[in-house]
Amino acid sequence: SAVFNLQEGTKDQVQEFLNSFDTVLTDCDGVLWIDNNAIQGAADTMNYFRKIGKKIFYVTNNSTKIRSDFAAKAQQLGFIASQDEILSTAYLVAHYLKGIGFTKKVYLVGSNGIGEELKAVGIRHTGIGPDHVKPDFKSMKPSELDPEVGAVVVGFDEHVSYPKFMKAASYLASEDCLFIATNTDERFPKGGSIVVPGTGTIVRAVETCSERKALVLGKPHAYVRKFLESCGLDPARTLMIGDRCNTDIELGVRCGFQTLLVLSGVTSNKDLQKIQSDKTPPLPDVVLPKLGDLLSLLPS
Ligand code: PLP
Ligand code: CA
Repeated sequence: SAVFNLQEGTKDQVQEFLNSFDTVLTDCDGVLWIDNNAIQGAADTMNYFRKIGKKIFYVTNNSTKIRSDFAAKAQQLGFIASQDEILSTAYLVAHYLKGIGFTKKVYLVGSNGIGEELKAVGIRHTGIGPDHVKPDFKSMKPSELDPEVGAVVVGFDEHVSYPKFMKAASYLASEDCLFIATNTDERFPKGGSIVVPGTGTIVRAVETCSERKALVLGKPHAYVRKFLESCGLDPARTLMIGDRCNTDIELGVRCGFQTLLVLSGVTSNKDLQKIQSDKTPPLPDVVLPKLGDLLSLLPS
């Protein structure tokens, strides 16, 4: 079935679309904002959804911030948002580990966002910050490993380094050590000729040297689905909005949500055409150039 360009829909079709969901799940970066700049019309559209009674969740794979930081950022950019509407990967990691009764320490290849969310649920961690290569780095001793560590968590880490890979893989050599990753996004949605490697780069590196596969908690994986189901939403009456087919739209398809792809982030019109001919990753139901384009289509 073809992707429906809402801009080519009639007023009735737009109204029908709006009536077809009660809950809106939205990706953040690439849909609502890029870095610290709101995407034009996104806040007005989300606030309109709220005004007409839709329930809203912000679902982000970004692991670098805590939920209250995301809520503050959203508010600053004009979105009405509260902390408990934020479903971020740092929070998911803490929620997951708490849920399984984890009491050991986490070796964290990641940033403060995860560290603070872990702290908030009483889980200790080590590893944040720079860990530089020393001249004798290959002679690391087992005594340099912390026997309290029972999980390696990998998220976005701007200080990622060879010694961190060495420690992570050494902890993971113990079968009992859990291996959790926030997300596997390949890249950041930057334009132009500069490629900014995403968290997937780091996760795949740790998977390679540990010879293990991480349990990935972010979009499109099952933990988000379980979490959302526990919030009691009706999949058939839920809309997932995203800028990536292999995370946002894939999550939507796996969960039985309706899906709206916007072309203001990672996926370009050209990418969409390729996805349409390859049929992988899954296609969205509906497409718009950007979320704010919905405003001019609204029934008056
Ligand atoms: N991970 C990191 C570290 C990020 O900074 C971002 C976007 O800024 C993402 C992931 C992607 O986030 P989202 O799922 O909101 O697009
Ligand atoms: Ca995104």
